[in-house]
Amino acid sequence: MRLIVFILCLIFAFTIFLSAFLQAPLVLGRAIPGFPNAQGYCFPVGGKHSYSNDWHAPRYIPTFHLHKGTDIIAPRWTPVYACVDGVVKKTEVTKVGGKIIGLLGKDSYYYYYAHLEAFAVGLEPGFKIKSGQIIGYVGNSGNAQGGPTHLHFGIKVGGEWVNPYPMLKSWEGS
Ligand SMILES: [Zn+2]
Repeated sequence: MRLIVFILCLIFAFTIFLSAFLQAPLVLGRAIPGFPNAQGYCFPVGGKHSYSNDWHAPRYIPTFHLHKGTDIIAPRWTPVYACVDGVVKKTEVTKVGGKIIGLLGKDSYYYYYAHLEAFAVGLEPGFKIKSGQIIGYVGNSGNAQGGPTHLHFGIKVGGEWVNPYPMLKSWEGS
């Protein structure tokens, strides 16, 4: 009896091991998390996630404002990737954003990541970063505390926030 249970456990473990290996390449037509597309961009959240076009959705915390980014909901500790080659400009802990990263892309867009659980070990301003490199992990730090864990992803072009949703959609589909 014990031997049968042991063998079943072994088969189960092997199946999980195998599926982890096979899953990524089998998802046809979708970017493999952490791998940049032909244009060098990479979807910023690995694994299971969901998001919608919540640009300019009304928000009330800390005060009324229009949402200036896209919230990508994912489990705590889901890896967060640099979406493009660039330089880390900021790794800070702020009241609103919690653990935040500012990344200046080589495309000269500014990428803002907020509510992280943790930064990647050793990540510091000045670091040159490659698209697809892990820079942190999904959490709910800052004013997201107590709410669902998610990455707030913002993009600034020429000093102005723009809607990241169409870009996220295109990165994910390429
Ligand atoms: Zn947000």
